[in-house]
Amino acid sequence: MDVEVVRSKKRRKTVSAQMVDGRLRVSIPSWMSKADEQRHVDDMVRRMTRRRESSSIDIVGRTRLLARRYDLPEPASVRFVDNQVTRWGSCTPVDRSIRLSSRLAGFPAWVLDYVIVHELAHLVELRHNARFHALVARYPKAERATGFLIAKGLDPGDD
Ligand SMILES: [Zn+2]
Repeated sequence: MDVEVVRSKKRRKTVSAQMVDGRLRVSIPSWMSKADEQRHVDDMVRRMTRRRESSSIDIVGRTRLLARRYDLPEPASVRFVDNQVTRWGSCTPVDRSIRLSSRLAGFPAWVLDYVIVHELAHLVELRHNARFHALVARYPKAERATGFLIAKGLDPGDD
């Protein structure tokens, strides 16, 4: 990814990034050190890459397919979010919405599918109890996917 760094005297501490003519423009405060600049640029590149990867996935269609295949309810909405870094996803039963960490978009499809099945199972059973585990066990690679996610520093959080 092409990156352009703009140092601004007006900026106090915030760092922002946007795509301009196919290039990532990162704006940083003028006083920032080279090391901090590099750290922020790396972070923004990672974020933008994830956003691209996640927008290339038909997450709604995939979720519908998995719900049918494993006989689970369909959510009212499902989308990727950027702000879940250590949690792989979440399910809000009140409005039946599912949010997935955009980090998942860069993982193998069978891992992403597992997380979708996991969150769909929460539409039936909120807690990680025996009933819940029986539901997610319908997905053949449930255990392998869980191991993969934990190794990446992601966990299911306290659903
Ligand atoms: Zn869970």
